[in-house]
Amino acid sequence: MADPAAPPPAAASSGPIGIGVVGIGKIAKDQHLPVITSSPDYRLFATTSKSGGYPGFPCYTDIGDMLAKEPDVRAVSLCTPPQGRYELAVAAIDAGRDVFLEKPPGATLSEVEALRVRAEARGVVLFASWHSRCAPAVQPARAWIAERTVRRVQIDWREDVRHWHPNQDWVFQPGGMGVFDPGINALSIATRILPPFHLTSAELRVPANRQTPIQADLAFVLDGGAEVVMALDWLQTGPQTWDVRVETDRGVLTLHEGGQRAEVQGSDGLGPLKRGPHVEYEGLYARFAELVRRRISDVDVSPLRQLADAFTLGRRTIVDPFDW
Ligand code: NAP
Repeated sequence: MADPAAPPPAAASSGPIGIGVVGIGKIAKDQHLPVITSSPDYRLFATTSKSGGYPGFPCYTDIGDMLAKEPDVRAVSLCTPPQGRYELAVAAIDAGRDVFLEKPPGATLSEVEALRVRAEARGVVLFASWHSRCAPAVQPARAWIAERTVRRVQIDWREDVRHWHPNQDWVFQPGGMGVFDPGINALSIATRILPPFHLTSAELRVPANRQTPIQADLAFVLDGGAEVVMALDWLQTGPQTWDVRVETDRGVLTLHEGGQRAEVQGSDGLGPLKRGPHVEYEGLYARFAELVRRRISDVDVSPLRQLADAFTLGRRTIVDPFDW
């Protein structure tokens, strides 16, 4: 039952949304805070952080303190690793705050479903964000593919974990998802632009001294029978690859750089695409503002479900230990 002492659910309003950010790590500093502080839709009031917060704003070390002492914080953005995000989200929901979840929305599907039900009961907005879906070429690619028959899809997501996630041990701990931490971005694009598909096999390569895979090969089948193959590699040095190649009955489209640009072989183009350093997070925060004002939630777990299937069906191989 809801705590009668807690503030009422955030009311629809036309002014800036008072927001607090929890977990001031790489993504909060690189994307969330620059976008929030430059958007007329938001006003940052506070952070919760064990490492010092964000200069110029109150910093709490406990989310409960921030929620109790900052009534202007009507919405909370959770930028922590997936492990432990559930408890933070419960605290925010129970305090009547709208919640923005970084990807992946939780460590398990059941956690996210419990949050969705809880938010609905409390009358607050819950947003499971998928930043790669806001990459500029993704929506045009979806429209292009919708008018064609897909014959085959090849997803290649190859990056250097030491460069992109230095010393982030949580990625190799249970719930950290390993190479699926970036790989789920590919799955978020694939589940947005392709017809429905499901996993048929997976091979997960797990370092002997770690709990989560560092490489994976997956095979899926689309409704209609076309093959989708996906290669995830976290040991790629040199050029980095985040590509989705979609072969259709009328041309081949390749998304490059995680959806930042698209190349179409054949006569069709995708038109001009907006690009910029924060375009994905600008899109996410515009969407969250719209959800808050309309008082509706958006919790699509389909990328996380594909990932969970890989962990359920995947064959595990132990490979060389990994050290930073
Ligand atoms: P990070 O640099 O390790 O930062 C996470 C922050 O969360 C920490 O700085 C810490 O903030 C807080 N935290 C709370 N519990 C923690 C724990 N057990 N271990 C480590 N940190 C903990 O991670 P990140 O790269 O920002 O990733 C956070 C989330 O954003 C993940 O879900 C990730 O998938 C997603 N994401 C990351 C990127 C990226 O490029 N790195 C891109 C898109 C999405 P305080 O010190 O302030 O308490």
